[in-house]
Amino acid sequence: MPPDRPIASLFSAHRPARSLEFFPPKDDAGVEALRATATALRSIRPDFVSVTYGAGGTTRDRTAQVSTLLRGEFGFTVMPHLTCVGHPRPELEAMADRIHAAGFRNIMALRGDPPKGETSFTPCADGLRYAGDLVALLKARHPDFCLGVGGYPEKHPEAPSPAADLDHLRRKVDAGADFITTQLFFDNAVYYRFVESCRKAGITVPIVPGIMPVLSLKQIQRFTTLCGATLPAALLRRLEVAAENPDVVEIIGVDWALDQIRDLLAYGAPGYHLYIMNRAKSALALAAGLAA
Ligand SMILES: Cc1cc2nc3c(=O)[nH]c(=O)nc-3n(C[C@H](O)[C@H](O)[C@H](O)COP(=O)(O)OP(=O)(O)OC[C@H]3O[C@@H](n4cnc5c(N)ncnc54)[C@H](O)[C@@H]3O)c2cc1C
Repeated sequence: MPPDRPIASLFSAHRPARSLEFFPPKDDAGVEALRATATALRSIRPDFVSVTYGAGGTTRDRTAQVSTLLRGEFGFTVMPHLTCVGHPRPELEAMADRIHAAGFRNIMALRGDPPKGETSFTPCADGLRYAGDLVALLKARHPDFCLGVGGYPEKHPEAPSPAADLDHLRRKVDAGADFITTQLFFDNAVYYRFVESCRKAGITVPIVPGIMPVLSLKQIQRFTTLCGATLPAALLRRLEVAAENPDVVEIIGVDWALDQIRDLLAYGAPGYHLYIMNRAKSALALAAGLAA
């Protein structure tokens, strides 16, 4: 199998790149369920899929397993995520070599969240402090890696100010990041302002909006609290009315995401990345809605 093509070449307002994010399941039964999801999603032909990297350590080996499965069995272009958490520099270099040797050419390079029970991020001995350091390490090791980094339209929760966060983002791009994927957001105005600020700050790489179709009120309240994203009052009201009816919540989630994506594409976004939580239904409904 030839090496993957660099994802950055796919982003364009003329033909926006559509991508899906999986997370590595905890056990073999979860891997089978993911296989079923991937089978269902094959029909919508995503431009690429990504596989997150677990914070706690338990699912980390599964990132490689699931990435290999999605690439080998389904022919998807796969972007594994990699974080700095708990890895000394030589370990990250060895992982970069393994990922490259397996034919992957795209990585989402992240710092990662502090492990469970820890409130602030502390690099391990000989470890890296920021995602930008990981970008630099990966590019130095394999210059043909195409690297994505995370961007935060509503500011990273730890950053002292939006301006400081933007400056840090610019440093990640200066270190060699090829594109930015944003944290989830529900109000497109937030993304448009963010893109504008990035451009003013001299960040020219594609900024791909990350969209999560809501699947449950409780889950989205937990996520938004963790990542600092705002749930617009209009969306929250609808979800509260439907909270006891999961099917209705999913319909509301898809409708909201559909409106967001249509508006983003009209604006000229270079694509959109769907946080699908390993579920096929919303992504299929969105693909059908966008085809109409
Ligand atoms: C698209 C996307 C995918 C994600 N996938 C995963 C995943 O697979 N696994 C996972 O565990 N987590 C994932 N996350 C969550 C991410 O790990 C957390 O948000 C984490 O807290 C920050 O990671 P980062 O890469 O943005 O860090 P960084 O870019 O390093 O930023 C972390 C903090 O440090 C600041 N900072 C950055 N650089 C500097 C600098 N040079 N000097 C001073 N301050 C600096 C930033 O402003 C920010 O406040 C993802 C997030 C996004 C947006």
